[in-house]
Amino acid sequence: MDFLASDALRGRGSATPDELVAATYVGAVLEQYGITPAGDDGTYIQRAVILQPKLKTSPVVRYGTEGGAGTWWTYGLNFEAEYFSKPTFQGPLQRVDSETQSDPKKLKIKKGAVVLVLGTDRKKVRSATFAALNGGAVAAMSGVGSDHEKWDQAHEWPKPPKRLEGQAGGMGMEDFGDVLLLSEATLAALKDVPDGTVFSLTSELGESEKSFTWNAVGKIAGMDARAGVVLLSAHLDHLGIGPAVKGDSIYNGADDDASGTTAVLELARALALGTKPRRTIIFALFGSEEAGGLGSTWFQGHSPVPLDKIAANLEFEMIGRPDPKYAADKLWLTGWERSNLGPALAAHGAKLEADKRPEERFFMRSDNYVLAKKGVVAQTVSSFGLHKDYHQPSDDLEHIDFQHMTAAIGSMIRPVQWLVNSGFTPKWNPGGRP
Ligand SMILES: [Zn+2]
Repeated sequence: MDFLASDALRGRGSATPDELVAATYVGAVLEQYGITPAGDDGTYIQRAVILQPKLKTSPVVRYGTEGGAGTWWTYGLNFEAEYFSKPTFQGPLQRVDSETQSDPKKLKIKKGAVVLVLGTDRKKVRSATFAALNGGAVAAMSGVGSDHEKWDQAHEWPKPPKRLEGQAGGMGMEDFGDVLLLSEATLAALKDVPDGTVFSLTSELGESEKSFTWNAVGKIAGMDARAGVVLLSAHLDHLGIGPAVKGDSIYNGADDDASGTTAVLELARALALGTKPRRTIIFALFGSEEAGGLGSTWFQGHSPVPLDKIAANLEFEMIGRPDPKYAADKLWLTGWERSNLGPALAAHGAKLEADKRPEERFFMRSDNYVLAKKGVVAQTVSSFGLHKDYHQPSDDLEHIDFQHMTAAIGSMIRPVQWLVNSGFTPKWNPGGRP
């Protein structure tokens, strides 16, 4: 952990050479512990190919009656994209007044509509925008009036979301819809345009820019090939170099997630020392979690074993400091009530409890979710107590409670040893599978 969270690794930025150094180091540690490589071509490294789609032409918005005369909008003059998931869309205009239709839950959005959100209160506009897109709109537009700093003076063309070569999607934001900002004059000119008028956006995709991210993967082959596989995981990347805070620009990510990576390595060491387990154990340290779960998404498409052979996945996230909401040495499991995995581990000595902050949606905020969406019973072990160093340069070794972390990892060894030797296969509870 000293090395992973050191300034030498410059914060292990997603898909940077520093991330590759971290993955190579993790592979070397696994090798030292006698773990078999399970990455590409007999190595510990699994390389994922990230594609950044680029536009070839400036996006254009048109509207008007079908077959009739239309109006053109120019990018950077009439509109800009704040979020850009679709390079083309078309749909009828629907107005939503964020002032009078104040309860976003009650909004009735026509499927495929292009929603114009009216109002000047930034918060209300924002929540109506999200409600419209969640409700099935293909795009949402609003005036830039309440949010001037969002207007990009450089007028750079928007970038579609990154994706992985040969795979659809990262964390599921691809189909979310586009969010457009309109200049004040453009918004004013819409005053007399009736609802139902067809709006469309067109742009042309050029070649994608390629980059890479790296996972470190190893395994201990079990005695019983039919007993299923246990996957222990964490993410080895963090935010890298960023805006300086109090003169420090290295986002060390000691708690997030050098602590989880250390936990998986320590479990690998302990499990390799014992007798051969009944189940195969895979250790996966993912890259580019911070960029939208890209490393774990690649892993689920290139898993060393079929996903339906994975009996359980435990991800370790931010266990370097105690959570003040819990008794000392306690950890919590995201999505506790979704499966019978947590209670079974607790019954075998894990100091695990239910996640007391369901409103934070932690179950959906780590790599476990990528696998859970594929049906794997996948949950995250954590003791993150919403400390203020989260995603700050101050998430460094100085702020780690090593006594807590040592106890936390130690408390998981026996329950995991039980799990990898048992015939217990966890199941989703009714309605628990995402
Ligand atoms: Zn994390």
